[in-house]
Amino acid sequence: MVRIGFEIHVQLKTKSKLFCSCPTNFLEAEPNTNICPVCTAQPGSKPEGINEEVIRKAVMVALALNCKIRDEPLRFLRKHYFYPDLPNNYQRTSEPFAVDGELNGVRIREIHIEEDPGRYELREGIVDYNRSGVPLIEIVTEPDMTTVEEARNFLKHLRAVLDYLDVILYPEIGFRVDANVSIEGGERVEVKNINSIHGVVRALKYEIARHKRMLAMGKKIVRETRHWDEVRGVTVSLREKETAEDYRYMPDPDIPPYHIDPALVKELRAKMPELPHQKRDRLVREYGIDESAAWTFVLDKELGDLFESLAKQFGVKNATSFCLNLRGELNYRDKYLAEIPNRERLTKLAELYFGGKITKPVYVEYLRKILDDPAFVPAEQEQLSDDAIRQIAHEIIKANPQAVADYKSGEKKALNFLVGQIVARTKGRADPKRAIQILREELQRL
Ligand SMILES: [Zn+2]
Repeated sequence: MVRIGFEIHVQLKTKSKLFCSCPTNFLEAEPNTNICPVCTAQPGSKPEGINEEVIRKAVMVALALNCKIRDEPLRFLRKHYFYPDLPNNYQRTSEPFAVDGELNGVRIREIHIEEDPGRYELREGIVDYNRSGVPLIEIVTEPDMTTVEEARNFLKHLRAVLDYLDVILYPEIGFRVDANVSIEGGERVEVKNINSIHGVVRALKYEIARHKRMLAMGKKIVRETRHWDEVRGVTVSLREKETAEDYRYMPDPDIPPYHIDPALVKELRAKMPELPHQKRDRLVREYGIDESAAWTFVLDKELGDLFESLAKQFGVKNATSFCLNLRGELNYRDKYLAEIPNRERLTKLAELYFGGKITKPVYVEYLRKILDDPAFVPAEQEQLSDDAIRQIAHEIIKANPQAVADYKSGEKKALNFLVGQIVARTKGRADPKRAIQILREELQRL
């Protein structure tokens, strides 16, 4: 029996840091420019009051995950460890402010707020404190998942909820997962800091296979923390797992306990935007598409939005096939639609294709180009004239006597083969319907 649980760190999208007014946009800023005495722990500096925007965003997440918000003063603790990215020698981390939630059949044990450390580039020995003090929430699940598939579905759903709430600071990097996994007869192993769902799936598969192999060889699985090496596709042992005592947790005397106002919770509950499962139900109801297609679309927020806009312009059937194709291509690239620049090109592509201006092979080619080349702009492609198609049909007929003979003896499949040859030769510039018509005529004449 496999047991999988997660600790998910989300960098919250707020203007300023958790305990000071420095901006959070650490990716765009020059190193060590978004800093002040508080987030670099200068002697004598004291944290400012807790950033209310952090509380609002954190409570929204907790409510969307069906958690109870604790109605009592929340303490911030100092969690000690020693590393160049942590100027205070401790990280401020709150007690859980939300507990007992549930998503996708997985129990959410607790959520707490903490501050991100800075960034330390080990090889170059460079420290950048722009990130120091950026607000994080940590979402902790119970180890309720028993298969990699369940784990993947949970993370996709959670990620969609966070996207719908628009709370992730940098969606490409702001969602980091620690996965813990154990199988019957072995200790729990934690794989730290995996930054994509695809990466989590690979790491889990690797770990489960490793545990089974170890047990089969009669070896013991020790409790430890491992690192996921994305490039090599393996996990590597980091250290024996710290226990709570190693961190010497203690309440931070500089931060008075914070009580989340029940009136605020009520206000935020009333403001909750449409969430993925609600949108799925609405798409099924309003557009009559099946539940699994609807779920596929809504799990990627932008794709769900695109489906709705295309359905209004080109009809439900066209929008469905367009978005399913698009999802397939995105899956292949392990991307969310939001990561594709200049997305209005997709609407342009739909216009060309559903307006009969480009053929299906060209549409497929353009779709891939849009995803892979930010500069590519889809444009109408000149269609070949009937005469030009006829010319090519002659050549194809000459070059494929066997297929022609098959067709003549009643093998209808041979016609598809010949049409395919024309489409390939013309790189999709021949309308397949015209090509079939002309081919039939020419074969008739033989
Ligand atoms: Zn600061």
